[in-house]
Amino acid sequence: MNHPLAAYEEPTLGCTRCPLSATRTQVVFGSGDPNAELMFVGEAPGYHEDQQGVPFVGQAGQLLEKLLNGIGLSRTDVYIANVLKCRPPGNRDPQPEEIEACESHLFRQIELIEPTLVATLGNFATKLLSGKPAGITRVHGVPQQVTLGGNAVTLYPLYHPAAALYTRAMLSVLEEDFARIPQLLGRPAAAPEQPEASEPEPVCERVPELTVQLGLF
Ligand code: URA
Repeated sequence: MNHPLAAYEEPTLGCTRCPLSATRTQVVFGSGDPNAELMFVGEAPGYHEDQQGVPFVGQAGQLLEKLLNGIGLSRTDVYIANVLKCRPPGNRDPQPEEIEACESHLFRQIELIEPTLVATLGNFATKLLSGKPAGITRVHGVPQQVTLGGNAVTLYPLYHPAAALYTRAMLSVLEEDFARIPQLLGRPAAAPEQPEASEPEPVCERVPELTVQLGLF
């Protein structure tokens, strides 16, 4: 039997609630498992997403996929959507009136998918779904309990992968925050990545004098 999300998607593909409908190539509704426990919410489609009709298929998407693989998941295990379903021209920030026009699509998606964990990627998704103005730098990596689509949901704000592509320090934080997802899903932590097979590390013999000397620094 078809998931009710498919029935909601069909008319949404013709949405004309805001002027972005005039400049988009197509609506990027969302993709993945409609029964997923874990849902990601990004900002808005970019060029590649607008061309392909699938969220997170560009460079940021490749990073998202890599991060998912790192915790033993793939994009077909989760559901991925955005705050805006249509690309803002030139990838500019979503405007408040566009968010207002589009947000009920996202709320309906959450209601139909019923995820237990919603990871928001970046400021726009975090502010919209937390209902609070606190920015991502302050709230990333800290789970919040919220009600979305009539259900109790854990909201987990994360840096947007596109931002992490530009800032090494942000990428490390994103990786650390991502590593806590299995625990938030009530699953054992993902095994840390194995280093490449190499010569065994030489066993360092303890040299007492050296230890004392090093202790001076
Ligand atoms: N950035 C987003 O927020 N969403 C996408 O789909 C792609 C890039």
